Amino acid sequence: MSNVRVRFAPSPTGFVHIGSLRTALYNFLFARHNDGKYILRIEDTDRTRFVDGAIENLIASMEWAGIKHDEGVFVEDGEVVQKGDFGPYIQSERLDIYKKYIDELIEKGYAYYCFCSRERIDKVREEQKAQGKIPKYDGYCRSIDIEEARERIANGEEYVVRLKLPANKNIEFNDLVRGKVTINTNDMDDQVLMKSDGFPTYHFAVVVDDHLMEISHIVRGEEWLPSTPKHVFMFEVFGWDTPTYVHLPTVLNKDKKKLSKRQGDVSVTDFKDKGYLPEALNNYLALVGWSPESNEEIFNMEELIKEFSFDRVSKTGGVFDKDKLDWVNGQYIRETSLDDLTQLTIPYLKNAGYIDDKDVENRYDWIKTMVSTVKENLSYIAEITKKVDIYFNHEISSGDEEVINILQGKQVPTLLDVFREELEEIDEIDEEFAKSVIKKIQKKTKIKGKNLFMPIRAMLTGQLHGPEMVNIIWVLGKQNILKRIEYVENSILNKNIDKEK
Ligand code: GLU
Repeated sequence: MSNVRVRFAPSPTGFVHIGSLRTALYNFLFARHNDGKYILRIEDTDRTRFVDGAIENLIASMEWAGIKHDEGVFVEDGEVVQKGDFGPYIQSERLDIYKKYIDELIEKGYAYYCFCSRERIDKVREEQKAQGKIPKYDGYCRSIDIEEARERIANGEEYVVRLKLPANKNIEFNDLVRGKVTINTNDMDDQVLMKSDGFPTYHFAVVVDDHLMEISHIVRGEEWLPSTPKHVFMFEVFGWDTPTYVHLPTVLNKDKKKLSKRQGDVSVTDFKDKGYLPEALNNYLALVGWSPESNEEIFNMEELIKEFSFDRVSKTGGVFDKDKLDWVNGQYIRETSLDDLTQLTIPYLKNAGYIDDKDVENRYDWIKTMVSTVKENLSYIAEITKKVDIYFNHEISSGDEEVINILQGKQVPTLLDVFREELEEIDEIDEEFAKSVIKKIQKKTKIKGKNLFMPIRAMLTGQLHGPEMVNIIWVLGKQNILKRIEYVENSILNKNIDKEK
């Protein structure tokens, strides 16, 4: 067992962004690659953002994704439980620990009580902004004597605790992705570490916990890079070893902007609900910001663990390309056995009203064949309902000009007559019939090639492209095809359809 200990430390806001899943994944891959430990800690000190059930949700998302942690917060039989020697792993249960360390920091002279009202702070900020300065706390309470401060607190005055940064000191740290980072304390703010509600801020809790939980590498999104100097300063003044930092490039959309809810799917549950396969999502997400040595793009989890390193994580944002994800997911769908795939599609097909429990019980093979006809073209499971729509809806809209033109070809009435004759000779379509019927129609009518195939496909599916005709015929069955022939005869042939442009 190595000394590598990493953590994923989400705030339970009820929503797991796809970028957070990538952070979790990189932590996980790094831990496994190095035979280390991967910890899940809950950072819930911002009580205004707390959402009921969010921890359960978050852990369910991680479980679905197959990113398993070794230590920290788990859900068992619906209950939130904690496991490991460094607990509690939920920050709101560690308040006494933070209290102890904040007192130590005050004692050492690196933190101070601040009694400024919100109004005063807002006013100072406004003034600074008006002067074109970057707003920050003006240090009004820095020099209040500690005894006086304690008295004011005893008298019931509201306060926060702030970090006391020395003037003009360079803070330096090394980031495995960013390289050496230096910032001067003159450009930093006296961060609030303890709020008036007695809860620490993220900035304080994260330092105390990463130290006490013996975290070796802090792997997180680059939005935390500007905060890191404050954290490093605290590690130093406490006299603690600073962990190694790894700031990951932000997950961007194709326009190189932050991937946000407004543009559609961004939460893990969105992708789960659409029927992306967790293995595929992990595979694709791994590539958003990291590149393997080879040009390969398909990696299972084991291969990712073997290949992954921070050396090949890029400094600039990783673009989340949904088309690429669809492609990767499609590859995994193709690799899924037909039985498993059928099982995965059943809830979606039921939901669309295309099948019910009886069909699952009595016509499972038929469902399977139907799924097999579209397997090659499926990008994600929810797409199944759109792809198999051809088997359930045969109305042709007046907007489908090409389809209508083909169905109004002069050879079509003969084709339909002969197709009907063939159907009337059998009880139900079997494989043999499905395979031979088009040939038979060709022989009888002498119509061949496009003139034969296109109208039949259009009549059967209302579309000009799609699964192989043999499969379509088999899945539709005799009665459905008879109905479709009749529909085309009554609604399309010889009709003057006012086609929409
Ligand atoms: N609680 C922070 C978040 O939700 C974690 C940041 C960190 O990993 O230090 O992003």
